[in-house]
Parts: sequence; C-alpha cells; structure tokens
Amino acid sequence: MVIVGASLAGLSAAQTLRENGFGGRITLVGDEPYPPYDRPPLSKRVLTGRLSADATGLPRHTDLDASWRLGNAAVGLDRAAGTVTLSDGEVIGYDKLLIATGTRARRWPHAEQAAIDGVFSIRTRDDARALQARLAARPKRVLVIGAGFMGSEVASVCRELGLDVTVVERGPAPMLAALGGPAALAAGRLQRRHGVDLRTRTSVQALEGDAAGRLRRARLSGGEVLDVELAVVALGAERNTEWLDGAGLTLDARGVHCDPYCRAIGADGRPADDLLVAGDVACWPHPLYEDGPLAVEHWDNAVRQARVAALTMHRGPVCAHTTLPTFWSNQFGVNIKVVGVPSHADQVAVVQGAAAKPGFVAVYGRRGRVIAALAVNAPRSLDAYAALINVRAAFPPELNATDAPDPVQVLDTGVPTPGQVTHRPAAAGT
Ligand SMILES: Cc1cc2nc3c(=O)[nH]c(=O)nc-3n(C[C@H](O)[C@H](O)[C@H](O)COP(=O)(O)OP(=O)(O)OC[C@H]3O[C@@H](n4cnc5c(N)ncnc54)[C@H](O)[C@@H]3O)c2cc1C
Repeated sequence: MVIVGASLAGLSAAQTLRENGFGGRITLVGDEPYPPYDRPPLSKRVLTGRLSADATGLPRHTDLDASWRLGNAAVGLDRAAGTVTLSDGEVIGYDKLLIATGTRARRWPHAEQAAIDGVFSIRTRDDARALQARLAARPKRVLVIGAGFMGSEVASVCRELGLDVTVVERGPAPMLAALGGPAALAAGRLQRRHGVDLRTRTSVQALEGDAAGRLRRARLSGGEVLDVELAVVALGAERNTEWLDGAGLTLDARGVHCDPYCRAIGADGRPADDLLVAGDVACWPHPLYEDGPLAVEHWDNAVRQARVAALTMHRGPVCAHTTLPTFWSNQFGVNIKVVGVPSHADQVAVVQGAAAKPGFVAVYGRRGRVIAALAVNAPRSLDAYAALINVRAAFPPELNATDAPDPVQVLDTGVPTPGQVTHRPAAAGT
C-alpha cells in the first residue's frame, strides 16, 4: 500500500490498515520534512506562543512498521505501470495507492507583492513558526486579508496578544459562506467588540514594501492607505493535485472526485479499485447533500474518510463514507461548532438563545429540510441536531426548547451561491 500525503488523512489510513490486520508493506510519501503533525493548533495556540510548533506531532496509536519517504514529493502517477515517481527520481510500485495530498494556502495573487518581507500565509508548521516569531516582535499593525475561519482565528490571536489588527473582507461579514448571514453578522459584532478594525465590503488592492523590501503599506479599495508591518493572507486553499495531471482521473477545483467508498473516479466515470482518495483533496457524493460532490476541509472528515479509504484498500468496497461533516473553531473566547454543511442552506433560524447573546444554536435548512446546525458556546447540544439532519427532518424544526426565541424567525442565509459575484471588480482602461 502506498500513501501519498503524510499528514492527518495519510496517517489515519495507515493506522486503520494495521488495526484491521493488514500485514503487508506500507509506504508513506510526504513532501514536508516532518512526520505527520496537527494543523488546527497552528492558527491558535502556536501563534500565541503557548505551544511550540514542534510540539504538534500527531500521536500514533499503533506500530505502523511503515517505510517513510519524507521531504520527497510525488511528481507523477503512471496508472498503467502502477507506479508513483518521486521528486528525487525514485519510482515506487503499488498495489493500492491512497491520494491524501490535501491543500495548500492560496497565495496573494501578485507574486512580487507576495514576496515582500512581512507577507505571510499559514498552512504548515514552518509557516506558523515564522509568523509566531513576527507576532512576538510586536508589529505596530497586522493586516489580515480575508475573514474566513483562518483569518478570524489569526485576528483573535492578534487581539489576545494585544496587537492592533485590521481585517479586510470583501463580503458583508466574516465567515459568511460558512455560517450564513445572522451568525456571520454576530461574528462581525464579536470581532469589533474585541477591538478588531474590521473592514467589510472592502478589498486590498496592493501591498507595498520599503526600499529594504519590508512591508509598509496596504492600499484598500476605498482609496485608503494603511500603515502595516505584517500581512496574513487568508484567502482559502487550493488542492494539491498537480502531480496527478495526465493520470486520467476526474479532478477539478473541488479536488479528486471519488465514490462513497473513496475510490477515485477515472476520466471514463468509473471508480478505480486500486486508487483511493481521502481528506481535504477529495470530493465525493454525500447522500444528504445532493447539489453535487461535497468537498470538506475539516479535521474530522479527513480522519473518517481516511478510515473508509483504508478499509476499501484492504477489503474492497464494504463501508461507505456517509458521516456528517463537523468542525470547530475557537476565537475571541468563543467556541464555534458546526455539524452538516451550512453553505448549502438557503434558510436559517436561531432556535436556542439569540445571535446577539454569547451562546446560541442556529439550524440551517434547504428546500424545507434541516441540513446543518451551528452551536456557539453550546457544543454539547449538537448531537441532537445531527440526528435531525440524518433523518432529513422538516425545516424549521419544532423543538420547543425552553430557551427558544419567541417566535422563531426564519431568515435567508445570504450565502452566495457558487459563481455568484460577491464584489464589483475595479476595471481600468489601458
Ligand atoms: C492553520 C490551520 C488550522 C485549522 N484549524 C482547523 C480547525 O480548527 N478545525 C477543523 O476541523 N479543521 C481545521 N483545519 C483543517 C484540517 O487541519 C485539515 O482538514 C486537515 O489537515 C486535512 O488533512 P489532510 O491529511 O487531508 O491534508 P493535509 O493536512 O493538507 O496534508 C496533506 C499533506 O500532503 C502533502 N503533499 C502535498 N502534495 C504532495 C505531493 N505531491 N507529494 C507528497 N506529499 C504531498 C502536504 O504537504 C501535506 O503534508 C485547519 C487547517 C489549518 C492549515
């Protein structure tokens, strides 16, 4: 068994293979020099300096007895020969291959500006270590570009460290696509209450350095110029699929398409028994979300999907990956937990507490069915909502919770549909 991508999904698959009695050879290939480590702490405790970047290694529950190729990227896949070629020229044969190459941070689109000293993104242990050192040097102002989960967590760390931070977001509120309107607006209020200079419906037009190549200014869409010493680009992620170009697989911006048993879909539309996919790089049909393949970039999904992929590698298609996506985030002293896929919803209702208060639960609906739920400072209540999603309960649900608002209001989520223009690009005649 060859596993390409030696991180959360790759390690989980290797462990599952051994736990299920696979006694053959396992080879793990990873382009990073480190054994598998955990990413969620990187944008949280590592940035605050409370946890060393080197202390994020993932625990191993079993003796993997695996061959490791670290610091060595897979650069090509030859399906006919059943081989993977690595960057150092080694060619590894496989009986079954797991694709678990995840994603990378989307870079600032202007290469010369991205190269200015002080412009960061965060995906790897090395990114987090370098950014933490710069934050510890107490820059006068930090600019965060993009108020998704990553950008919001970085802003939270900045405030925790007592640093001035401006967050620039081109949409109307932070985390809008992930949480929908009411919760996103509440997140915006929370950020401002904690002293974040949040600029919504604004975009960064240019980053500028001084003569020594250090970041000094950012030009915003309204014409304002901000003095900044550090910028964190938090514009989402791109899938690591280039090494699969020409391999005859179905792949696009959502990742490598696979079936519910994690078998990669070939260009002919048929699943390949010897090629599996799991984690952030995968997209697959989920029975509860019928608007096309689901692509999930969360920790829990990477682990669960990798387990299914490993079972398929070992025993064939016996177990489908149908678990509900869940994820969490901690920011500004608040615990956010989500089950299901709010971005697919068209309506939302706060069903416990109130979005203006510190703790609440919101339920999301699509075409009259419950498809997701969000708990803010109420993580334990989500199991009951997961059950509603699994049985496709009617939306809005009749819960009669003692802390329900009266009446429960159903609102549009305001989540942009894929392809919808979320901002007006500036155009200049040349
Ligand atoms: C800073 C940060 C904070 C996060 N916080 C949360 C959180 O709070 N909650 C949550 O649910 N999720 C969170 N996530 C997401 C979670 O970490 C990911 O969902 C998870 O890491 C996905 O695991 P993976 O193994 O699929 O991919 P990855 O972790 O991306 O691993 C893929 C590995 O493959 C390697 N690779 C890529 N191309 C090649 C190649 N050609 N050859 C060999 N190796 C290659 C990559 O370098 C990487 O090491 C966070 C992610 C980040 C970056």
